[in-house]
Order: sequence, then structure tokens, then C-alpha cells
Amino acid sequence: MRAMVLHRTGSPLTAEDRPVPVPGAGKVLIQVRACAVCRTDLHIVDGELPTLTLPRVPGHEIVGTVTAVGPGVALAVGTRVGVPWLASTCGHCDYCRSGRENLCADARFTGCHVDGGYAEFALADHRYCLALPDSLDDVHAAPLLCAGLIGYRALRLTGAARRIGLYGFGAAAHLVAQLAIAQGREVYAFVRPGDLDAERFARSLGAKWAGASDAAPPIPLDAAIIFAPVGALVPAALAAVARGGTVVCAGIHMSDIPQFPYALLWGERSLVSVANLTRLDGEEFMALAATLDLRPEVEVHPLAEANLALARLRAGQVSGAAVLVP
Ligand SMILES: [Zn+2]
Ligand SMILES: [Zn+2]
Repeated sequence: MRAMVLHRTGSPLTAEDRPVPVPGAGKVLIQVRACAVCRTDLHIVDGELPTLTLPRVPGHEIVGTVTAVGPGVALAVGTRVGVPWLASTCGHCDYCRSGRENLCADARFTGCHVDGGYAEFALADHRYCLALPDSLDDVHAAPLLCAGLIGYRALRLTGAARRIGLYGFGAAAHLVAQLAIAQGREVYAFVRPGDLDAERFARSLGAKWAGASDAAPPIPLDAAIIFAPVGALVPAALAAVARGGTVVCAGIHMSDIPQFPYALLWGERSLVSVANLTRLDGEEFMALAATLDLRPEVEVHPLAEANLALARLRAGQVSGAAVLVP
């Protein structure tokens, strides 16, 4: 099979021919139909995730068809499944036993500790595969598996906030915006200063306001979610939320947060992060997505263009999500 492989952080992926893997106990072999490109993949390529093991096939937003199963698997050959970031957990630590498997210290992550979906085939633990909404085809379902899911978990942490700021209007924000608006909330989109296309894109999805990330919103917000990996946005977002407001950092990596006056946090503002996902998040979000008219915007690249897709994401040139198709 063809696969795009990371051998050394800081270097491009290399195209390789590899044997199709054989599923062992509890594993399914999936023929990849589409795999979305996540900002986390950039952090992996850049060596910013310390637990990464190499060589590695990245990709943790996999949509595919089960083509073979190992012993002890209930999934049938031919089933369409999604494979998210959470590849496995220990199942018995305090976190796993209290509904917080996303924090399990022994969790393994797709495309980081086990090979992911930048390939024609991938293996996955059947217990961590997700059912997908029938309403979305393969390339449009792929961004739900991380951008949508992490966005959903982040949005949930904002509670009943009505006015929500989204910092960084990429794959996750464009899905969260649709979700939040469907829930009757108002979305305020913060984009890279000067990125008028991103402002227009946010408004086209129903954002009440769109402007530069260093600008103040027209009205104090109830909550903000930061998707861009830029620590300087933390004090900016705290300044943009009203007393009692919540700022959620949704990225897996962020540049250092600059020092800021306590007054920005005072007034019972909360600053929290979102880490990974649980399987329950996945089930809840996919069920919700099936009831909404979610419209993921995608740009599709052949698998061999994985490096180009990553470069376009890094440069802020992708509107919505980039998706690789083998
Ligand atoms: Zn655990
Ligand atoms: Zn991701």
C-alpha cells in the first residue's frame, strides 16, 4: 500500500510502499477513503509533541471501510467507520473509570503512537471506531473526527454562553460556528489580521461579527474558544469576555502565554484547556451532527500531496478543512 511516512521531525513526509497490515486480536483493517488534515499533524511534523514515536504515518481523522477483522471483533466487513485521535486507553486507571479516558496517562493516539490515515489502509482498535452520520460522504465526514469533535468538547465547556468568540477560523471553528448558531448562540470570529477571506468565510456561515484577532469584539462575550496555537491570544480572549466568562484553549500545543495583569482573570473568569476526546464525546457529537445540516467545507488533495496540504494549512491558505484521498 502507499503511505506518507514521517521519519524525522522537521522533515517532509516521504511516499512509501508498505505491506498491507494484518489485523490482530481486537483490530480492524480499514481501507482509507478519506483522511482530514489537522493542525495537530503540523505539531507532529514539527516535533512539538514529546511522546511521538517514529517512523509514523500521521492522520487521525480517518473515514474508511472495514475490509478485514481480527479475532474478537464485532464490526462486520464492509462497515463504514471513523477513526479519531483516541486510539486506545488503559481502561482501568482513575481517569478511565471516571468517564475521563481523554486524560488517561497510557492513552495512545492515532497518527502519533500508532500509524494513521495518510495511507491506503490503517489498523484500528474496533472499540475506538465511531459510527458516522449517513448524511455526509467520506470527504465531508472526515473533518468531524477531530475538528468537529474537539470543537464540540470545547463548546460544551462554555456552558450556556450565548455570545461565543472563536479565535482562529479554521477546520474546527467553521464546524463549531455552525453548531453554535444551530443552538441559538451568536458567533464572533477572530481571524489573522488582514485575512479578509477568512472574515468573509465566517460571515457566510452566519457569524454575527468577524474581525482581526487583535481587535476587541463589538460587545463583551460570554465565552471564547482559542483554536489558533498562539499564546498571545489568551490575554486577548480574557479581555474580550465579560465577568464570569470562560476562555477555552482547544489546541494540543500553544506558544508561551505572555504575562498578563490579574485584572484580566478577576471577575470569576475561567481559563481552561481541552485535551483529546472520549468515546462518549464521539458518540454524542456524531448523533448531534446527524440531526444538524452541518456543511463541512473541504479542499480535497490526493494522498501524494500530503506535504502540500500541510504547507497550505501552515500558511493559513485552507478554507475549512484539507482532506487527503488515497
Ligand atoms: Zn486509563
Ligand atoms: Zn486533530
